[in-house]
Amino acid sequence: MPAEVVDGREIATAIRRDMRREVEVLTGTQGRPPGLAVILVGDDLASTTYVRNKGKACEEVGIKSVQIHLPATTSREELLDILHGLNKDETVDGILVQLPLPPHIEERSILEAVDPAKDVDGFHPSNLGGLLTGHPLFVASTPLGIMEVLDRFQVAIEGKDAVVVGWSTIVGKPIAFLLLERRASVTVCQQWTRDLDQHTRQAEILVVAAGKPGLVRGDMVKEGAVVIDVGINRVAGKLVGDVDFPSVYPKASLITPVPGGVGPLTVAMLLKNTLLSYKARGSLPRKP
Ligand code: NAD
Repeated sequence: MPAEVVDGREIATAIRRDMRREVEVLTGTQGRPPGLAVILVGDDLASTTYVRNKGKACEEVGIKSVQIHLPATTSREELLDILHGLNKDETVDGILVQLPLPPHIEERSILEAVDPAKDVDGFHPSNLGGLLTGHPLFVASTPLGIMEVLDRFQVAIEGKDAVVVGWSTIVGKPIAFLLLERRASVTVCQQWTRDLDQHTRQAEILVVAAGKPGLVRGDMVKEGAVVIDVGINRVAGKLVGDVDFPSVYPKASLITPVPGGVGPLTVAMLLKNTLLSYKARGSLPRKP
């Protein structure tokens, strides 16, 4: 039987609808809405679009979005100053630095300067460390979106063979740990893995985040596998994933398409993290 196809847009819309109600009530009782600050340095086209979409999504659920657009010539010290200000700002619950940064600004020191309690992107070493011990304050939005799909479709994870293709800090590593935490047997593959297909064919849950269009074909997938395609690639003006959808769809039991799969959930999870931070911060200014 061909796969069930995940409609990420529909799920994200439902999440935002539920959040909007909660945010409305909380804003009334707490006297202020949740706040998300997004910093963009430079004019990278894709980043500008991502930041705009995050702002729109915030607006839709009633989160106050503060967008700080800085010139590409901004120095590391100027950026750190702004971050320190946002760390102290009681009306800001989440801080996100849109990556990539211009080459003269080292990313690691910037990500480390974000207060871990406002690190809604989950990139601070303290949150990444928390992932290892099973107690992060925040987990990166894309892996969270993947878990949301697995849970919404009631995919059994415990004891399953899961294979993750890609080991980036923003997708591959965190999703591998989240699956481990849920007691899957996890294999992580990367560009140096020999015989990738030998691994992918064992996967009952296959997560592909490599940024290589068509990397995973139908003959590399186990019958009945759950296939999560994280890749976003532009090929001949069209967005495609890392999974060759036409050949994998007939073999999988559940599959996320590109576009319209994991992507919309990433933004929804960012909003969820911001709301989580807002609720967790005990010192919320009360309504007079
Ligand atoms: P990355 O470039 O940081 O990492 C890619 C990983 O894939 C590396 O670990 C590399 O070793 C591995 N890889 C590359 N070629 C491979 C091959 N031939 N075989 C096996 N492994 C291979 O990328 P990233 O930031 O993790 O993003 C991966 C993809 O996911 C990109 O297409 C990106 O645009 C997309 N992405 C989507 C979302 C979303 O919201 N849907 C979020 C983040 C990233």
